[in-house]
Amino acid sequence: MFEIVFLGTSASAPSVHRGLSAQVVKHDEYRFLIDCGEGTQRQILQSGIGFKRLNRILITHGHLDHILGLAGLLSTFSRWEAIDELEIYAGKWALDRIHDLLFGVVLRGARPPMSIHLVEVRPGVIFEDAEFSVTAFPVDHRGADCYGYLFDEKSRRPFLAEKADALNIPQGPWRRDLVNGQVVTLPDGRAIDPEQVLGPARPGTRLVHVGDSGRTDNLRSVCQFADLLVIEATYMQEEAAMAADFAHLTARQAAELAIQAGVKHLVLTHISRRYRERDVLAEERAIFPHVMVARAFDVFQIKRDEFVQLAESGQLKDQPSASS
Ligand SMILES: [Zn+2]
Ligand SMILES: [Zn+2]
Repeated sequence: MFEIVFLGTSASAPSVHRGLSAQVVKHDEYRFLIDCGEGTQRQILQSGIGFKRLNRILITHGHLDHILGLAGLLSTFSRWEAIDELEIYAGKWALDRIHDLLFGVVLRGARPPMSIHLVEVRPGVIFEDAEFSVTAFPVDHRGADCYGYLFDEKSRRPFLAEKADALNIPQGPWRRDLVNGQVVTLPDGRAIDPEQVLGPARPGTRLVHVGDSGRTDNLRSVCQFADLLVIEATYMQEEAAMAADFAHLTARQAAELAIQAGVKHLVLTHISRRYRERDVLAEERAIFPHVMVARAFDVFQIKRDEFVQLAESGQLKDQPSASS
């Protein structure tokens, strides 16, 4: 299960209602800040997430509307926040610019308040633990080294308690070891193979995040059957030519990608100031019903067969309702 908290959802420049790109993906104790547009630290405070354990930052690309907030964040960390280590993942071009911003402008020779690891992203797995992995994949936008990120829970084989009961397997460590795929010997001397009590593998939850992008044909396979796709939709269909000129997407292109890839739910972000959310939705819901436009402080929980909005613009919902 993943959770995503939107912090900033505007393209290029902030609007009265929208801040610049930033969102946090959570999985158990892990938190990943994806992009850090100007003003992100105030959004973090307002969202109630806080800075604790916010020590991994994934950057989609080096345009200023996605990275300028890193300067303020580091400046604040240097005064009063206790984070021992900060990892910033980005493609090479973005990483060079971030290096200049943090070490050239913010620190200017001063000692960093914590160790800062600037990690160059290349396509492939960039983070992994027992439960899930994060994979970077290339995205085409203006300039080199743009990346999207796939959060992928590992598949699991469910423990079939009724089969275990039928085999008279006692409660306790034997069942735990069987869940972990080990052959066990019961107190009565019988050996039980995990195959006897485990069901077929069930794929884990998949969340795909795409920042700024000029095309979608190269994203189909990574988006395949994603439970949630979060993707930029800077323009509406009437300005498709402008979208192409600036290597951005229209909401229609995002919706078509979702259909082609069998995506279950689609959340659009990086919306141009010129549009109203309801107009974007009216245009796209006709072709892909499970689409939403992200607002600051929206919180979504994504499970394999369930997609729930926990909070809308920061207001906790009384009765979350599954929309699958
Ligand atoms: Zn942007
Ligand atoms: Zn950009």
